This record gives sequence, structure tokens and C-alpha cells, in this order.
Amino acid sequence: SRTPLTLLGAGAMGTALARAWLAAGHPVTVWNRTPARAEALAAEGATVAASAAEAVAANRLVVACLLDDASVGDALEGADLAGRDLVNLTTGTPAEGRARAAWAEAGGARFLDGGIMAVPPMIGVADSGGYVFYSGSPELFEEHRDTLAVPAGARWAGADPGFAALHDVALLSAMSGMFAGITHAFALLRPEDIAPKDFAPLLVDWLTAMAPAAHQTADQLESGDYTSNVVSNLAMQVAGNATLLRTAEEQRVSPELLTPYMALMERRLAQGHGDEDGTGIVELLAQDAS
Ligand code: NDP
Repeated sequence: SRTPLTLLGAGAMGTALARAWLAAGHPVTVWNRTPARAEALAAEGATVAASAAEAVAANRLVVACLLDDASVGDALEGADLAGRDLVNLTTGTPAEGRARAAWAEAGGARFLDGGIMAVPPMIGVADSGGYVFYSGSPELFEEHRDTLAVPAGARWAGADPGFAALHDVALLSAMSGMFAGITHAFALLRPEDIAPKDFAPLLVDWLTAMAPAAHQTADQLESGDYTSNVVSNLAMQVAGNATLLRTAEEQRVSPELLTPYMALMERRLAQGHGDEDGTGIVELLAQDAS
């Protein structure tokens, strides 16, 4: 029989997770701060608990998928975590993950933090490409791996409970830059000149073709040699930036999404690194821990 579990949070993501576990035959006890939001899941076979503490008491495996780390603290205040396996799928920072792990362990629970790399329609769908990073207790992960893999693929990110969030937020941060670029590109086109729907496939193909440059960046960071295999040197790129900015001006588009990155490229060039590509900017960004 399938492992029973408790789910705290019936928002968009919590509801998708609950449906995936219910569909796979796992008994699910659900709690949501606003009870009405859990009603649809009750109709689909979930048991609705009247309080978070009652939901936690119902099962050893407890999954939280709430708005942010503070809401996890709010929801679990006063709940008895002794002997529980707490899996926190709420997006947070690495430090929040570590602090939540220490807090759960002090309460007598084993702890895993998770970072969901999927949107709700990808949950419970085979081969959707969605997955979840997990970090924290290796024992908890091994014991519940099959159950955790039901809604989306389960990827181990390390015993440091901050590492799931670090992977998650690094990918989201890269996505943020990508969306900034897409937004600027559509602004440049002006729909009366070039139809957005004609341009979208070109944009997807171009970004897909350029994305593997991340491997080159990784190789250079590993070797410490930022000038090997450079095909687009920084001096040329900075000259090209002027063309990007003049085009923005011609099209009457604000350059504000581009200029912060361009300023960093110019700084690195001014330090005498015109024969690198973009890797040295990683060093400009990294601040001292002090
Ligand atoms: P929703 O806004 O749909 O749901 C938020 C949930 O948090 C609700 O259950 C809400 O309860 C609860 N909540 C908020 N504040 C508190 C509080 N103080 N105490 C108790 N419960 C609280 O968000 P999602 O379900 O979309 O997101 C949940 C988590 O999943 C987030 O951390 C998000 O980053 C992550 N995630 C979401 C993705 C998405 O595309 N949706 C993708 C990847 C990760 P109530 O109903 O009472 O308001």
C-alpha cells in the first residue's frame, strides 16, 4: 500500500501535488489556512484536517507547500514535530532552508528542503520535464524517494539543507535574465513592424542555440583560464553593445533592462580583459563574505 502523507497548503501548487499523490493511490490528509480552498480535494478523496497541528499528527510524512518561509513558521507554530519527516516544498533562500532544518531537527523531525522546478500543470504529468531539488536528510530522501518522485522527478542536491534552494534560485535567476531579454526584444520590434507571433519561434530557436554557452563558462570557471576557446571576445561584444543601444534609441525603447549588464562588461574590459568572453564578470559580481 502507498505511504500516507500530510500536505500543508492547498494553493495552486499544493493542490496539484495533492492531486498527483491521490491519483497514485496515496492517502492524503490536507490542511489549508482558508478551509474553502481544500474542499475540492476532499471531493477527490483527501481527508481535510481542521488544523495544521491535527494534519501533522495524522501522518509521519508531512509536506509543506506554502507561500514563503514565514508562512511555514506560522502554520507549524505549536505543531508537534517529534518523529515526523518534514519536507518543505516552499520556495525560500538557502539560509532559510538551513534555519528551517535546524528548527525542525530541534523539534525532533527529520527534514528535507525542496525547490520545485515546475509549474502546476507539469505536476503529476509523466515526462513533463518538471522536477524537484531536494537537500537535507539523506535518510529521509532515501526512505521516501518513491513517494517524493510521484508529483515530479526527484533530484538530490546535497546534505546541506540550503542546497535545494541554492540550485532552485540560481536557475530562477538565470530565467529572470532570459525573460528580461525576451521583453526587450519584443519592445524593439514594435508589433506594427514585425508580428510578435512570427518572431517568437526565432527567439526560442536563438536562445536555445545560445544556451549551451553555459558549458563554456563552466569550463573556464573550473580551469581558471577565461581566455581559452573564446569566439566572441569582450572588446568586440562591448563595441556591439553600442549598436544594441543605438537600435533601442531608434526604436524609442528604454535600454534599462540591458544597461546594468553592459556596464559590467565595460568594467571588465577597462580592467584589461578584452580577450575574455563574459566569464570574468562572475568575479566582478562575487562580493566578499564579510
Ligand atoms: P498560492 O498563492 O496559490 O498558495 C499559497 C498558499 O500559502 C495557500 O495555501 C495559502 O493559504 C498559504 N499561506 C500563505 N500565507 C500563509 C500563512 N501566513 N500561514 C499559512 N498559510 C499561508 O501559491 P502556490 O501554491 O502557487 O505556491 C506555493 C509555493 O510553491 C511557493 O513557495 C511557490 O514559490 C512554490 N512554487 C510555485 C510555483 C507555481 O508556478 N505556482 C512553481 C514553483 C514553486 P490561503 O489559501 O489561506 O491563503
